[in-house]
Order: sequence, then C-alpha cells, then structure tokens
Amino acid sequence: MATPKHKTSKSRRNMRRSHDALGSNAFHECPNCGELKRPHNVCPSCGHYDKREVVAQKTTEE
Ligand SMILES: [Zn+2]
Repeated sequence: MATPKHKTSKSRRNMRRSHDALGSNAFHECPNCGELKRPHNVCPSCGHYDKREVVAQKTTEE
C-alpha cells in the first residue's frame, strides 16, 4: 500500500480541511403560497409548480 513519506502536520491537515465545510441548502419562496421550498421541486405545502400549474394536490382539510 502506498504510504505517505512524511507526516501531515496538524496545520496542513487543518488547512486542507478548511474547504470541507458543507454549505447551506438552497431554498426559495414559493410564488403561490410564499412558503419556503426547494427550487425545481413541487411546493410541499400547496402542490404548485411553474407558477399556477397544480401538479400535486395535498388535501389540507381531512
Ligand atoms: Zn406553495
């Protein structure tokens, strides 16, 4: 197995990991109900997509 010739110092290891942080997820306001939703996904609260087109209806009154 390939083995590193030199030990990676804490400094170099941490410098390498400085780019590893995860970014925040993308969220956008639904143009129909204003709820936060993920882009390119049907709104989970009102079921709308592409402005006024109803793709999936979610019954709120049960
Ligand atoms: Zn919505």
